[in-house]
Amino acid sequence: MDIYRHPTFDMACAQFDRVADLLGIDPLDRDRLKYPKRALTVAVPVRMDDGTVNVFTGFRVQHHLSLGPTKGGMRYHPDVALGEVAALAMWMSWKCALTGLPYGGAKGGVTCDPRRLSINELEGITRRFTQEIISFIGQQIDIPAPDVGTNEQTMAWMMDTYSIHTGHSVPGVVTGKPVSLGGSQGRREATGRGVGFLVGRAMEALKLKPQDCTAVVQGFGNVGSVTASSLAHFGTKIIAISDVDGGFYNANGLDLALVDRHLAQHRSLAGFTEADRITNEELLLLPCDVLVPAALERQITEKNAAQIQCRILAEAANGPTTPEADAILDQRPEIFLIPDILCNAGGVVVSYFEWVQDLQSFFWDEAEVMGKLYRILETAFKQTTTLARARGLSMRTAALSLGIQRVHEAKKLRGLFP
Ligand code: NAD
Repeated sequence: MDIYRHPTFDMACAQFDRVADLLGIDPLDRDRLKYPKRALTVAVPVRMDDGTVNVFTGFRVQHHLSLGPTKGGMRYHPDVALGEVAALAMWMSWKCALTGLPYGGAKGGVTCDPRRLSINELEGITRRFTQEIISFIGQQIDIPAPDVGTNEQTMAWMMDTYSIHTGHSVPGVVTGKPVSLGGSQGRREATGRGVGFLVGRAMEALKLKPQDCTAVVQGFGNVGSVTASSLAHFGTKIIAISDVDGGFYNANGLDLALVDRHLAQHRSLAGFTEADRITNEELLLLPCDVLVPAALERQITEKNAAQIQCRILAEAANGPTTPEADAILDQRPEIFLIPDILCNAGGVVVSYFEWVQDLQSFFWDEAEVMGKLYRILETAFKQTTTLARARGLSMRTAALSLGIQRVHEAKKLRGLFP
């Protein structure tokens, strides 16, 4: 399937092939498990603020339909491409199966730079994109959510556009909405808090005390910023953070309240004066207890994997580590890896709760949401560590094995159609 050719899709396929060999999956079943069930590419013409019309390209990929509707985020970024979206959809499938959610994986995106677009232009892109994919989504078909470059406002526009088309409000068509429109308590914080919870479990396994630990976070958007405050809440010192404009390092620990104040004013870390400037490359190599890549794919590669200096590598981003880097990390047992499909699963778990609440029009308080989230993450963490230990597997291979095995079983039970 050459249409998906992309370094990130190749990477997701290499991971799949390795696990399929390990699980002894029949070669005749593999293509059906690996390649997306369906994908839609659309043109998104938008009138810009200066009166010109710009045609953006949008994608939505649904990886498999064997366990229920599909679920996955919407990314707005200049590098969005069909193959990247397909890889992210595949990882969503394994993540949902690992955590026992009744979904297949999906992902979507529009190739654009949200930092250079006005609020009106972003609304135009979102509404037109939603209109173009309207028959492809639905609360029992495919349910989008936020990802890089999108947020609660994006989901509100998507939900509104879909609802206008349907003739009545359909809050369950997207998750990650504002609470006032049927969003869930705790959804905005869910991914980062889940990362914080799982880092805590890894610290327990390594007999590390949070208050004696330091952490470095690459990417300071929704996931990175909440992860940082979640770790700081338990006493861990955040010594470095970064965004697309570069990183900031302070060996004594960064004052996150000052960082938040700076971000509220400038929407970027650039110009922050309470720390030393470093590059994103240097940041990944800082000595620390917890390293959290929370930005984009393919950050830890064969070039830097041997030099990273952490005890816990918590993959808050999707696909931050290449298979070549994995081969190097496999030879470094001193690093405890929390693989992406486990580490950042908190987001889709609370998205699932939001969807359930919307379908029932019955809403839960934050304590109920968080209690249920941590129970699911605890089970997935235990299952992954138990399998890794019992079979001598890396944490990534163990987590992928559990996810892929469950989808494989569903496909075998249902037959060729879904
Ligand atoms: P976001 O748009 O809120 O933030 C992204 C951050 O990364 C920004 O600070 C941006 O400046 C920074 N960034 C972009 N390119 C960078 C680069 N080259 N180097 C360093 N920093 C860079 O996005 P998000 O929702 O926080 O998503 C971050 C990661 O988490 C992505 O991999 C996403 O797929 C994954 N994820 C997000 C969710 C969610 O609920 N939002 C759930 C699961 C996984």
